Amino acid sequence: MEHPLAILKKYWDFDSFRPLQGPIIESVLDGKDTLALLPTGGGKSLCYQVPALCLPGVALVISPLIALMKDQVEQLKKRKIPAAAIYSGMPYAEIDRVLDNAVYGDLKLLYLSPERLTTDLALERIRRMQVSLLAVDEAHCISQWGYDFRPAYLNIGAVRELIPKTPVLALTATAIPEVVTDIQEKLQFPETNVFQKSFARPNLSYIVRKEENKIGKLADMLKKQPGTAIVYVRNRRKTQEVALQLQRMGFTASFYHAGLEHDERAKRQDEWMQGTVHAMVCTNAFGMGIDKPDVRLVVHLDLPDSPEAYFQEAGRAGRDEKRSYAVLLYDDFDVQLLEENFSRSFPDPKEIRRVYQALGSYLQLAVGSGAGVSYNFDLAAFSRAFEFNPREALAALKVLEQAGWITLSDAVYIPGSFFIRVTREELYDFELKNPAVERILKAMLRTYTGAFQQYVSLREDQLARFLRMEKQGVVTALQAFHRAGIIDYRPPRDAPQLTFLLDRVDARNVQIDRQWYDFRKKRSRERIDQMIAYVRELHCRSQQLVGYFGEKDAPRCGHCDVCREHYKSTPSGPGFDKLKDRIRELVLAQKLDEKALAGFFRGRDQARIPEVLAYLMDEGWLAESDGKLVWNE
Ligand code: ADP
Ligand code: MG
Repeated sequence: MEHPLAILKKYWDFDSFRPLQGPIIESVLDGKDTLALLPTGGGKSLCYQVPALCLPGVALVISPLIALMKDQVEQLKKRKIPAAAIYSGMPYAEIDRVLDNAVYGDLKLLYLSPERLTTDLALERIRRMQVSLLAVDEAHCISQWGYDFRPAYLNIGAVRELIPKTPVLALTATAIPEVVTDIQEKLQFPETNVFQKSFARPNLSYIVRKEENKIGKLADMLKKQPGTAIVYVRNRRKTQEVALQLQRMGFTASFYHAGLEHDERAKRQDEWMQGTVHAMVCTNAFGMGIDKPDVRLVVHLDLPDSPEAYFQEAGRAGRDEKRSYAVLLYDDFDVQLLEENFSRSFPDPKEIRRVYQALGSYLQLAVGSGAGVSYNFDLAAFSRAFEFNPREALAALKVLEQAGWITLSDAVYIPGSFFIRVTREELYDFELKNPAVERILKAMLRTYTGAFQQYVSLREDQLARFLRMEKQGVVTALQAFHRAGIIDYRPPRDAPQLTFLLDRVDARNVQIDRQWYDFRKKRSRERIDQMIAYVRELHCRSQQLVGYFGEKDAPRCGHCDVCREHYKSTPSGPGFDKLKDRIRELVLAQKLDEKALAGFFRGRDQARIPEVLAYLMDEGWLAESDGKLVWNE
């Protein structure tokens, strides 16, 4: 077996593992079921990708986020690692082919979205694969205690039973202690085996402000902080409004939400990654899988509905470990709004059945059919057709999702595909009769092989570039071929998907387990209460957050708004002047960052360094430039 470090060097050109990656990989290679609890950006993917390359066979990776899955497969292919993904909405023939490739040993990693696991097709093939490892990304989704429970995750148990000797690696960034236990139980770990990094983020300063003029405050912060920023708001409309306001004030701002078209989303994300856009105003659809280490500022203009969500979003700042800020601006109205959303999120069972019934009619689905089928789903059109309030309809759909009837996904880009319906001779005839389009057909056959047998994906823009044509010209030609019966063309899709997990039943039989429903409601209430406590309690913000994740005796961070206030209101304290003088000496003598500076102190003095630095920065004695401390006399 090749050594993990050799694999890391060979495929990624990295020289060493990040904290805990080494021990996690070792544990997996020892054949042990393992739970890895690493922060976002901590490098969880490599924890399964490296063992996948060390071990014979194919690693199965379960992930709920289709866009991320596709991204990772692209990345792996670029590194010459054979990988593929299977998700809802993919043409059947492609699923079939990918599964075959996995069975015949042509793949090292196979990504699967969890709702695909119920199909006999998948299970029957998995039985025939040599599976090296079962990796479960976003493993908190398996727990009802978590904030993002996905019933489809319970299907993983069935996979586990097919391959009982294969080690499982569960990975997550956000798990409260109940979820940590639950993940291991649901995945049938024979003994607990958790690798966990502290949730504390020493370089991240959490700031909470009650603020009536949020935009004004936001502008102030952006002025002070030229580094890249993310601004989270609750809804799509607001992303655009706030971005426009910022632009009018002279900032380079852009906006992002899942309702934008695929190409537009990619373009905006790129501009922000390159740094040509200073602030991205967005919904929570932005940020997942975005790997930008030098985000300096994350501002929330609305209250998130759980500490888990807040911690994930705020945590996108400062992955490079340099000083960064996570700011939450709120007012009393936000708290009220959170309460209202809560009461709306748990409609009565009668209402839920009404929405289920309407859904069946809307999608023209016969009772007794539909399991596994995905539809483009437009919530607004659905609500209009049945005179539902869209928010109430969505709440009911979410309950149906949580109860395992359906799944909803945000817009997923599914490329166009085509299939040639005629024989080679007939195609040749067609080309002779239509010399104007011969070039296009020839290019299609050359670029995309196998289209005589099955649907193959195509990229209209690539084909256009190859032919030196406008994309629209290519699309028009494809549509014409389709009408002429030469090919079957399926245009690309970029709409939210709704998948039925079970066959449609009579709405009367949609049972919502009362006990289960009440439990979900209670947990949701607790998370909201925690979020409200976070903004209202004057208690070190970092201690509050890490405490929520089970770290009860964490030290004060020394630089959140509460610690700073606390520090300002306490007299400088014994030994403060001595500390200040020593810091001044050190900083004037050499280039140091915070960590290096702290290395010169021991014990109590060392523990005080963050708050003393925060104070000295507030008072203007110290500044930071390129991550190094600078003393101002
Ligand atoms: P997570 O899933 O935990 O949020 P990722 O797996 O997406 O994090 O990794 C985040 C980034 O860290 C990626 O760009 C990855 O290439 C990088 N990374 C991970 N491990 C290492 C390592 N050992 N050395 C250098 N970079 C690493
Ligand atoms: Mg990840």
